[in-house]
Amino acid sequence: MIEASVGQGGDNRAADVRTVQWLLLRVGIEPGGIDGIVGPRLIAAIRTVQDRFGIDPDGRIDPGGATLARLRAAPARWADSNDWPEARKLASLHPQFRRQVVTLIDRLRDDGFRPVVVYGWRSVAVQERLFRAGTSKVTFSFHNAQTPDGLPAAWAADLVDERWYWREPDAHVFFRALGKAAKAQGLIWGGDWKFRDWAHVQGRPNGDLAAVRRASGA
Ligand SMILES: [Zn+2]
Repeated sequence: MIEASVGQGGDNRAADVRTVQWLLLRVGIEPGGIDGIVGPRLIAAIRTVQDRFGIDPDGRIDPGGATLARLRAAPARWADSNDWPEARKLASLHPQFRRQVVTLIDRLRDDGFRPVVVYGWRSVAVQERLFRAGTSKVTFSFHNAQTPDGLPAAWAADLVDERWYWREPDAHVFFRALGKAAKAQGLIWGGDWKFRDWAHVQGRPNGDLAAVRRASGA
C-alpha cells in the first residue's frame, strides 16, 4: 500500500505521502493538503492517530508497521466531501479522469466561465444518505469509485459556474458549454441522459458501473 516510510525522518515518496494523507482523512483526522508533501501538519496528524491507537507517537508510518495496519483496519469516517476545498475534490478523482477534468476546466476558463467542482468523489455512506433523502436515484455511482483499499478514485464530477450554480437561465449557458467541452475530451455528459444531470461529467460508460463497483470493494 505504501512503498517506503512516510513522516518524520521517512523517505516520503509523493505517492506514499498522498496515500497516508487519504488514510488519515478517512478516519477523520485532518492531514492538511492531499498533495504528496510532508510538513509539520501531516507529522502532527500522524502523531495524533498513533496516540489514538496507543502506539509510540514517533510521527512516522512504515510499510508493514503497526500504525499502517491499524489505519487500514479502522472503520471509515468520511466527512461529506461536498465541503472539501477544490484541490481536494480534484485530488479525489481517478488520475486518468482527473487529467481530463483539469483540461476541461482550463478550456471553460479560457471561454470566460468560472467552473467549480461541487462533488468529485463521495463515500458510499454519503451516497446512501443522498439516496435515502431522494437527492440521488442510486446507491452506488461513479462518484463512489475507489481503490481496493477504499481510497477515493472517482470517475465522475459535478461542475457548475460559481456565479450561477443551478440558477436559470444563466446556469444553462454554462451547462451547454460544459457538455460540449466534456464530449470534446471524450467524457460522458449527464445532460444527454433521459433524466438530465446537467452538472455531471463521467469518465466511464454506464455499462462499466458493475465492474467499477466490484473493483471498489463496495
Ligand atoms: Zn454527478
